[in-house]
Amino acid sequence: MMPSLRKFLATSIAAAAVWTASTADAAPLPPVTDARPVTTEPTTHHPRADHVVFLALDGFDVEYLDLVRDGVAEMPNLGRLLRQGSVTTSTGVMTSITNPSWSSVATGAWPETHHNTAYWFDPATNTARGQQRDIAVPTIAQSVREQGGTVFSAQWFILQNYGVTFGDPDGLYTQPGGDCARRTDDAVAVLRGEPVSSGGQLVTANGIPELMTVYCDTLDAIGHDGGDADPRIPGALEDIDRQIGRIVAATKEAGVHRRTAFVITGDHGMTTFDRGFGAEGLAAIEAAGFTPQVLTSGQSPAPGTDVAIVVGGVADVRIIGERVGDPAAVGRLEQALKALPQVRNVFDRADQRRMQMSPNHGDLLVEPEPGWSFGSTPADPAGRHGATTELHIPLVLAGAGVRPGVHPYDPRHIDIAPTISALLGYAPPSGSEGRVLHEALRR
Ligand SMILES: [Zn+2]
Repeated sequence: MMPSLRKFLATSIAAAAVWTASTADAAPLPPVTDARPVTTEPTTHHPRADHVVFLALDGFDVEYLDLVRDGVAEMPNLGRLLRQGSVTTSTGVMTSITNPSWSSVATGAWPETHHNTAYWFDPATNTARGQQRDIAVPTIAQSVREQGGTVFSAQWFILQNYGVTFGDPDGLYTQPGGDCARRTDDAVAVLRGEPVSSGGQLVTANGIPELMTVYCDTLDAIGHDGGDADPRIPGALEDIDRQIGRIVAATKEAGVHRRTAFVITGDHGMTTFDRGFGAEGLAAIEAAGFTPQVLTSGQSPAPGTDVAIVVGGVADVRIIGERVGDPAAVGRLEQALKALPQVRNVFDRADQRRMQMSPNHGDLLVEPEPGWSFGSTPADPAGRHGATTELHIPLVLAGAGVRPGVHPYDPRHIDIAPTISALLGYAPPSGSEGRVLHEALRR
């Protein structure tokens, strides 16, 4: 274990919530060595970094950092990065499902604006919907490209055809599959100026891209399979750390390390469940006078169904048929669901608007208590996300343009795209509703 990182995490995670304290504690800034000519004219393009490497870690629960703090997992390369930056707890969006969450990270917009929605019932097609890729506002890749910049994405699929695509040397997308090391292989090759396989053809990026993204989902896969305390998680964190080390080394080899910023975050956390209350949930809805049906992606309800339920971590519940839009019926359904001891929260449409969720969701969103799932009891403990209990993920900001030891104040998913834009000296994506985390950046 690297003692400095352990100490860093022990002090910084707890202190991160108190911005004034962490700012006051910040070390004096090293001299600025930027040789860029100073002009009195306001400039639209004033980069703090020539390159940003963004590492997107699916299912990176903030509590996994406890494993590093406690010495269970060693992340020496992350520790070295943190000497040039900070790690804080960031807040995601509802629902805390992969595609809507990455859509908010990529656009800086709330789900109510980007409209990417997962696990809901679509009355227009009379079918249940799973996850999809539609995004209603521009991503950071589109925004950077429009302003003359270049982008590369190794499997961060949320950008595919939204600023990066197969075969485009200025906005290159690769989808190598495999593990985190395989996606890192592509990023290292691009940093070396070597060709990578992009949709089956070998393509060399047009220089070192200004924004480089790498997507790894080993933590999510392990978390779903065994829950948030799965014994494979420390090893997965250590593998991610090796990949961080490889990317940092490649930026040094390429001669861009001193002008590269590193941003690392997750989309959502993970919660273990070992019991299901699907049967009790349906019985409670029936007892309130309804005919419910749980639908999987692509499925349409049977005749006579008046409550459509689509489960993805949370349960999307919508009254259909003759009682559509009947507030008394929604109220009765809400009371029946709230009375269940396994239910943590029931969010009605007013709650959904308050949380800036997608307008595509149903009348009610039901989130289970930790330990429970709106489904059947699994043979072994498993993991889920989608609820407010999985909103917290780490945010690492480090390297060029970042103030060492200064924690951003209350960062959120929607602040990532504006902040990466500011690092690169670009305007944020046009639909962005977040803010630049200025306090953590150099002037
Ligand atoms: Zn997942």
